[in-house]
Amino acid sequence: MDLAANLERLQQRINAACERAGRNPESVVLQAVSKGQPSEMVRAAAELGLTLFGENKVQEAKIKIGQCPGNLHWHMIGHLQSNKCRDAVQLFGMIQSVDSLSLAEEIDKWADKRAKTMPILLEVNVAGESSKFGYPPAKLLAELERINALRRIEVHGLMTVAPWSAESEKVRPVFRQLRELKEQCEQILGAPLPHLSMGMSGDFEVAVEEGSTLIRVGTALFGPRNRAKRESSEPTDI
Ligand SMILES: *Cc1c(COP(=O)(O)O)cnc(C)c1O
Repeated sequence: MDLAANLERLQQRINAACERAGRNPESVVLQAVSKGQPSEMVRAAAELGLTLFGENKVQEAKIKIGQCPGNLHWHMIGHLQSNKCRDAVQLFGMIQSVDSLSLAEEIDKWADKRAKTMPILLEVNVAGESSKFGYPPAKLLAELERINALRRIEVHGLMTVAPWSAESEKVRPVFRQLRELKEQCEQILGAPLPHLSMGMSGDFEVAVEEGSTLIRVGTALFGPRNRAKRESSEPTDI
């Protein structure tokens, strides 16, 4: 596994996707998904210039963040249980996986206790897969204003995990729908939302072509994760 070569190759692919879409490569942030990877791997990635990391379990993140340089940024990208909100608010600079009003309220409560503002993304289950977390689009539109009204919460955009497909082209409609949903949210809120977090190792090029601002890449950067830990399509925070 050659991390520098993987990163170089990734950046070339991101640049090529941006070129196809007429986008500035600087408008796409590469988030390194370090779940299932040791802190040494994060430190090696940081030495190559990566600064934004994604974790999906609070407990794993707590240990890892403590072992890594303090100048790195960490986002929660996995399903969050309400009893982990207290730690999540302390550990993460953004929670990308908010999928209910009650979860947003719990985050708001702990952010208030710390007198801080918590940037969040709202996770959407665009394809309606029963195996995945995330808002059904209609429910998101119904709850959006109440979430946005929470004092310590800042809604920065939307996130999705697309269905798995060997042909990434097949998930293009999912990314397109998330982009359109973001536009609907912006109309409701009367303000722009800066982030569309979509695209992973298998589908980030299509996601970039459809407007992603934040791609979450694990295996294409770090290689396979520790297989001893069981993984579902979107691992839960257990
Ligand atoms: C694991 C994970 C990723 C990264 O997946 P890869 O296929 O390894 O790039 C991205 N987003 C979420 C929410 C994840 O759980």
